[in-house]
Amino acid sequence: MGTTYIPVKTILEELDIDVVLPPMSSKKTLELGIKCSPEAICVPFKIIMGNILEGIENGADTVFMLTGCGPCRFGIFHALQNEIIRDMNLKIEFITADRFSNLAGLKEFSARLKEASPKNNYLKIFNTIRKGLKILDAVDELQELTNKIRPIEINTGEVDYLDTNFSHEIRKVHGYDEAMNLIIDYKEKVSSVKIDKTKQLLKIGIVGEIYTILEPFINLNIEKKLGVLGIDVARSISASEYVREQLDFLPFVHSGKKTIYQAAKPYLEIPIGGHAINTIGNSMLYKKQNFDGIIHLLPFTCMPEIVAQCILPTIEKEQDIPIMTLVLDEMTGEAGYMTRLEAFVDLLVKRKDLKNEGNSLSWN
Ligand code: SF4
Repeated sequence: MGTTYIPVKTILEELDIDVVLPPMSSKKTLELGIKCSPEAICVPFKIIMGNILEGIENGADTVFMLTGCGPCRFGIFHALQNEIIRDMNLKIEFITADRFSNLAGLKEFSARLKEASPKNNYLKIFNTIRKGLKILDAVDELQELTNKIRPIEINTGEVDYLDTNFSHEIRKVHGYDEAMNLIIDYKEKVSSVKIDKTKQLLKIGIVGEIYTILEPFINLNIEKKLGVLGIDVARSISASEYVREQLDFLPFVHSGKKTIYQAAKPYLEIPIGGHAINTIGNSMLYKKQNFDGIIHLLPFTCMPEIVAQCILPTIEKEQDIPIMTLVLDEMTGEAGYMTRLEAFVDLLVKRKDLKNEGNSLSWN
């Protein structure tokens, strides 16, 4: 899921566990996953299934997978994937840990890590998790910076060049120190890209299902595409914020969960699984922050986001903010996707121009 593998890899390496990294998700990953997955299951399942098979191809003998309960398929991913692997007669061990959303969950997560690395004590495991969280924050900060600089860079393509190099190099480093040094180095490189501070940008917020927001293979690099079109893109969910949301039962961890849930209240009062309530809450917050538009991403057949999709047209009308929904699956074609993005951006530009002239293009 995007760059989330970086802190996980760091944690496992610091615990002296041999890490087999599957290649970045690709067409081949998806094809492998589709072949053995239930047809109507959401696309994240299929890609993760492909990642697992590519990891096994590269020599992995154990799969470490998170799970969770709630009204969404994520809770059954590990069981179904384990079953499929057994049907394929592959001798692979599955270690599953619940999302650490309470003290018991955190203890269980550490216990699973101990199971995978018996010679480490719990103190070492906790310290290593802390290091992993620092890497998680640092990677998210680098990505945010990349998104901020891309639309205002003077030499087009400079940021993307650095971004691509970073994705290659981070896979080669080992352990916390090497990973952190590389991230810091790239932060400096991105910060020193020449920019045009006077450039006027439209602001678009991305809301929706976490996997489709964070994984560029399935969202066809939406942040890059919008950045190149001159858009200041804000991503409503990051892996670090997701982890903070899980851990905010601890007194020293703070997430934006309360604010988001409060903002969602007029349209959705309770969490209904996945990130549906975040989609609604963040859309309301983007409206308050005067964003020019919102893009809603969801995988085909995603249960929680289908509910959010039904609520968004009401928000669009009542709050007067353009919202476009993009449903993604293995059939999504790049050309049609790009046309929709460009058309949406054109419309937002027109709307802003009219507003600046004192006219209005009502969204109702
Ligand atoms: S949130 Fe949607 S896409 Fe993600 S696992 Fe759940 S049902 Fe599938």
